[in-house]
Amino acid sequence: MKPVNEHQTNDTTKAEILAVGTELLLGDVVNTNSAEIARMLAELGIGVYYQTVVGDNRDRLAAAFRTAIDRADVVVVSGGLGPTEDDLTRETLAEVLERPLHRDSEWEAHLRAIFAERRWGPGGGTTLPENNLRQTMVPEGAVLLPNSRGTAPGIYVEDENAIVVLVPGPPREMRALMNEQVLPRLAASQATAGTGAVLASRVLRIIGLGESRVAELLQDLLAEQTNPTIAPLAQLGEVHLRLTAHAGTRDAATQLIDETAATIYETLGDAIYGEDDTTLEAVVGTLLRGEGGEGKERRARTLAVAESCTGGLLAHRLTNVAGSSAWFRGGIVAYSNEMKRALLNVPADLIEREGAVSEPVARAMATGVIEACGSDCGVAITGIAGPGGGSEAKPVGLTYIAVTCDGETVCHRYRFPGDREVVKARAAHTALSLLRRSLRQ
Ligand code: ATP
Ligand code: MG
Repeated sequence: MKPVNEHQTNDTTKAEILAVGTELLLGDVVNTNSAEIARMLAELGIGVYYQTVVGDNRDRLAAAFRTAIDRADVVVVSGGLGPTEDDLTRETLAEVLERPLHRDSEWEAHLRAIFAERRWGPGGGTTLPENNLRQTMVPEGAVLLPNSRGTAPGIYVEDENAIVVLVPGPPREMRALMNEQVLPRLAASQATAGTGAVLASRVLRIIGLGESRVAELLQDLLAEQTNPTIAPLAQLGEVHLRLTAHAGTRDAATQLIDETAATIYETLGDAIYGEDDTTLEAVVGTLLRGEGGEGKERRARTLAVAESCTGGLLAHRLTNVAGSSAWFRGGIVAYSNEMKRALLNVPADLIEREGAVSEPVARAMATGVIEACGSDCGVAITGIAGPGGGSEAKPVGLTYIAVTCDGETVCHRYRFPGDREVVKARAAHTALSLLRRSLRQ
């Protein structure tokens, strides 16, 4: 038997991920949770040695639990915490650990409050269904992890043989619980272990430079990288650099990353638009609020967008940013020439003469949408997403993006590779990048 402090998370920590659900075995649902959890654990320096998938069957689940607890120091289990009969994870864990289940009165009160506030669909009552009471049960000595996005709480238990963590199956609930509750706990147990190598990592997000150009600019740094390591990853329309450092403590690892990141910032400068999970639309939102940083005082501005080939994708991305109502006035999807004329006031003869996919029309759409929506800035996208509709002069992927800010318009011509959806995605992404550039000037 391993002593308790040996399943502290250090560089010899072995983890197993157990995904529970018959739908996973059947292939009806793709097991994205295990992949995501593996990446999360890797960032803490916890190596995943096994991934197991097991159906909603009590005996096989119990056997999988026993095997995992036996061979791993950390066992993370997703799925089967719901209120229905086939959700067996909690009860099976209690059985395997031989710990009786107790009702958590605090979570019960929380659930009762949720049900009292909301009717769960037509015919639904406002009292807590008997089934949901199962979600208040916790094995003795275990910690209940509150779920901010659902009724099923997670469970964290340090057994003598392993740390066992249960998280719900729905990916957004799993993610929230891992980030809010589980990873901090695992990291803390790592910090107290003291001896182990701690991994820290940071992603630098780069726009406007291709992967090979980034590699060229950082040639020396990439050639001599050891700690932190620098891994470039090409994404649609951008490049990510993942810096991963290991050291005795989290602070020391962060320090190593800070130093290398500073060198990269010196070389790439403005091309880095954010770090980690920052999105381009969030950065644009911050700039529009007048909070762009770099010591420059900027006033807050509002935005409207005119979209043809992207069909609202840009507006969708902008409205993904919490608080976007402070700066996003709205968008017009002007797909036909007639709508471009009627809603954006693009002269019919201009479209006739230049074609709908042209620089003059893109410019007219950008100024037209400012006029129509009363915003300070306007962005317009017009292009040929394909697969049909291209010609030699105007091939598929040809896109014009215009940005008007403070009375000044810039317009760029692109030819995006890829199929219809990819062209649309690249166009929206590039529009955000151009807008960022205009807002920073
Ligand atoms: P619920 O309260 O929703 O029943 P649960 O913890 O019981 O939560 P499951 O019933 O196992 O979770 O799964 C609910 C849904 O979550 C599944 O139908 C599936 O869409 C998704 N899901 C479950 N496990 C995974 C997984 N490993 N990867 C991706 N999605 C998953
Ligand atoms: Mg379920």
